[in-house]
Amino acid sequence: MSVVPPPVIRLDNRFARELGELAVPWQAAEAPEPRLLALNEELAAELGLDPQWLRGPDGLGLLLGTGVPEGATPVAQAYAGHQFGGFSPRLGDGRALLLGELTDTRGRLVDLHLKGSGRTPFARGGDGLAAVGPMLREYVISEAMHALGIPTTRSLAVVATGRPVRRETVLPGAVLARVAGSHLRVGSFQYVAATGDLDLLRRLTDHAIARHHPEAATAEVPALALFEAVVADQASLVARWMLVGFVHGVMNTDNMTISGETIDYGPCAFMEAFDPATVFSSIDEGGRYAYGNQPVVAQWNLARLAEALLPLINDDQERAIELAVQALGGFGRIHAAAWSDGMRAKLGLPQGLEAAVVGSLVSDLLALLQESHVDFTTFFRALAAAARGDAEPARGLFLDLAGFDAWRERWAALEPDADAMDRVNPVHIPRNHLVEEALTAATEGDLGPVERLVEVVRSPYRPRPGWERYAAPAPADFGAYRTFCGT
Ligand code: AMP
Ligand code: MG
Repeated sequence: MSVVPPPVIRLDNRFARELGELAVPWQAAEAPEPRLLALNEELAAELGLDPQWLRGPDGLGLLLGTGVPEGATPVAQAYAGHQFGGFSPRLGDGRALLLGELTDTRGRLVDLHLKGSGRTPFARGGDGLAAVGPMLREYVISEAMHALGIPTTRSLAVVATGRPVRRETVLPGAVLARVAGSHLRVGSFQYVAATGDLDLLRRLTDHAIARHHPEAATAEVPALALFEAVVADQASLVARWMLVGFVHGVMNTDNMTISGETIDYGPCAFMEAFDPATVFSSIDEGGRYAYGNQPVVAQWNLARLAEALLPLINDDQERAIELAVQALGGFGRIHAAAWSDGMRAKLGLPQGLEAAVVGSLVSDLLALLQESHVDFTTFFRALAAAARGDAEPARGLFLDLAGFDAWRERWAALEPDADAMDRVNPVHIPRNHLVEEALTAATEGDLGPVERLVEVVRSPYRPRPGWERYAAPAPADFGAYRTFCGT
């Protein structure tokens, strides 16, 4: 009789080893009644983890953090952060744990991290828990973002714990297992800068360079090269969000990664009718994190990263500031280029067009979309039909018909490619009303709607005959969408 040995999972503890000052060894809370709600088999395979094993008791132990492999050192990570502009020197993982790092099948080192795994020394007043709805929300939306080609942390699994979580009502609890290039944030650097420990700042910078921008290690000023690279990554990330109408909703410095991945899907949502002032988060009263404000906020956050790095940029603070300001200046250029190139592609236009031509076409279009409250996602697919000769689906979205007709003639004269448009303009985004509907059902025990929604958003460019409901904006009676931070 042959016995199949259990798979060997190797979890490194590189973060804990190299940056012990930022790592509090901690254990996940026991789950009274674990039940797997969602497992990302494709991601599991990329990580070299056997989905069948993950579904079993040992796998669930890993996904809950209650049974980690030998040699692993789960830690709560320390970080600081500006939340809505106000600085908190000590935030940290109040309800999360870094289990350790895994090397995936392509040789990339990634973090395996849990959210909702119990109180840690950073929990402050929080209960350390997470509810099924918000964890499945992160699962659905991060999968959609990944399928849209947008850098993001990924969700490996959601496991219900069987423990009730008290929010406005009592909700079922869950733990999300997620994977990221790393969980280093702008706030990680702010935390270290606030300690004044220059050696630690150097080690954190070296760690970030090794993991995300190894080429910076040999630059004349590695910390400056790292900063420039993060500026470039964030500038293009935010452009990519905006090209699909994504509003992150809580762009605090602790929610901005050094890896350039989207992180922390809290009150995020997708804009429907085009309007730069779009805000979903119930607590974002001033519109700080509105759709159109995201590039400004990203730069503000990056200025905080620069401040933290100043001592490593130059011994002369004036000179360090000068260099950092210059590097931050790259944001506007990179963001504008990514946005304009992305819009050019959405309009099906060839590369190499004069920037001013694309620029005026885009700004005139956005004004028309805003004036007529046109659904941003629907519009670009309807416009592909116009490129094929049928302008009616797009035209029907506008109140100002003459305005649209005039714009369409200018655009059509540039000979747009309809097939190219269909390759970059999604049919399916996680529509807010569908997300809510699916999460409500999941909270009541029916996972079907979440599973269907995940399936749809994983193939965002593919129309599904018979599934038109999944491509349509929210019905009028859905009302103004509000999301909540109390996740
Ligand atoms: P977030 O808004 O999810 O990015 O979290 C901001 C900060 O609040 C982080 O330090 C979290 O760890 C902490 N936090 C959020 N929710 C909880 C909770 N239920 N229990 C403990 N800490 C929490
Ligand atoms: Mg966060």
